[in-house]
Amino acid sequence: MQKTIWEENIIPIKTSEIEKKECDILIIGAGIAGVSTAFYLKNSKYSVIVIDKDKIASGITKRTTGKVTYLQGDVYHKIKNLCGEKISKKYYEAQKKAVNYILSNVQKNNIDCNLQGAHSYTFSIKDKASLKVEKELLNKWKNKCTWEDNLPIKFPCENAIKVEDTYVFHPLKYVYGLTKLCMNKNILFYEGVCANDVSFKDNYYITKTNQGNFKSKYVVISTHYPFFIFPGFIPLKTHIEKSYVCSSSFRNMSFNAITNEDKTHSIRFYKNNLIYSGYNHKLGNKNNEDKNYKNFKNRFNKYFKEEISHVWSAHDIMTEDFMPIIGEVKPNLFLATGFNKWGMTNGTLSGKIISDVILKKKNPYEEIFSPKRGFIIHKFLEDGFQNGKSFVKGMILSNFEKDFKIENINNTYYYVSKKNSNIKVKMNCPHMKCPLLFNESENTWDCPCHGSRFTLEGKLITGPSHKDICN
Ligand SMILES: Cc1cc2nc3c(=O)[nH]c(=O)nc-3n(C[C@H](O)[C@H](O)[C@H](O)COP(=O)(O)OP(=O)(O)OC[C@H]3O[C@@H](n4cnc5c(N)ncnc54)[C@H](O)[C@@H]3O)c2cc1C
Repeated sequence: MQKTIWEENIIPIKTSEIEKKECDILIIGAGIAGVSTAFYLKNSKYSVIVIDKDKIASGITKRTTGKVTYLQGDVYHKIKNLCGEKISKKYYEAQKKAVNYILSNVQKNNIDCNLQGAHSYTFSIKDKASLKVEKELLNKWKNKCTWEDNLPIKFPCENAIKVEDTYVFHPLKYVYGLTKLCMNKNILFYEGVCANDVSFKDNYYITKTNQGNFKSKYVVISTHYPFFIFPGFIPLKTHIEKSYVCSSSFRNMSFNAITNEDKTHSIRFYKNNLIYSGYNHKLGNKNNEDKNYKNFKNRFNKYFKEEISHVWSAHDIMTEDFMPIIGEVKPNLFLATGFNKWGMTNGTLSGKIISDVILKKKNPYEEIFSPKRGFIIHKFLEDGFQNGKSFVKGMILSNFEKDFKIENINNTYYYVSKKNSNIKVKMNCPHMKCPLLFNESENTWDCPCHGSRFTLEGKLITGPSHKDICN
């Protein structure tokens, strides 16, 4: 995996050895969602443990671009079309609040995370129609939003809209800052603890992990993608989108921008660096990673002549109604996922909403983001078709057959290397049985449906699967 700009000159947080496996609230996954939840619970009467299979903020939170903004492309226009203006306005109010929560957390606690004001732009290259609606909605909701002819840098732009009260920050430093504040309040953080099952017994949740069982009254699953299918039916309500990000030295500017069109261009600045992101596609649609990185870099070079210093990829969970999935899926079992590439605000909101529900406080957004809301059937069918198509394209039509054969051993299908008989891996991802694709540029097995990845030999790299495919 490539190093991101956020990992430069940063000292990882030291967590403790496992000393306790029983608590009131167990939080699984220490990205921005999990750590924000712990943060909002730190002054409560409850004992809290946070576990992560890897390190604190080592998932998508360290691969983000770190914009803290409520101007999110043309999301209000999209939600209005799908769910009506009332819901769209509620989503807007929640995002505005989340920006202010982050600002206040940083200011009140002196978190050193390079938070700085940065005007946000949504711009079009070819299709400004939705920009007009977005601006009209924001103005109607009494939010200042102006019409602009250009971006503050030279970049193709037909028109743009701008809001001013938004920010950018260093995402790793922010999450580390929250973690330290939680540790000061005796919240325990354990790294290298991978959860693989949660069951309910005698009024307690038992979470099975590679380090033994944890017992708690409440469980919060903030693992980016949940490692179980039921409850919540998340695979039916989401798809995964992959994007590429790079940074290069540049003059320091204080704005951020994103297109309203399917072909995303995203821009922000960090100190004397430009961070550019784009070349987004549904996971499983473009499986040649070498080619993807090459195309992405070519795209960057088309607009900027600076040399790339860091380049990485990341994927996020996209919901069919553009709103996050946050809340209770079963009594005292909570889920936070589906941030649609706006996880700085939505991860923060997860912390606020989930902690409010646990602390029996009313939260105005509990209902609209609830995991129990329905799913949009035609989008589900579209995704199922896409996943099937990408498998056929990736495996049947590629050169894959030269190197691997498929064998049925005791009713389980395996990919077996024709060159090295020690390489024998299960054909289907243990998570939801999607057929795995071979990623030639990184020598990994990738799940085109939900993003699990395995080494060539079949060892798990990243979930939602929590099992290897080599045995
Ligand atoms: C290219 C790109 C750019 C983005 N830019 C922005 C932006 O500018 N602004 C914005 O608001 N959002 C942005 N986002 C979205 C945002 O980065 C994500 O939504 C957010 O970081 C997700 O946070 P999380 O806490 O849900 O997941 P993660 O950060 O992935 O945290 C999940 C944690 O759970 C752990 N885990 C997983 N499985 C288990 C298990 N079984 N047991 C124990 N631990 C487990 C992982 O190790 C990980 O540390 C961007 C996303 C992408 C892809």
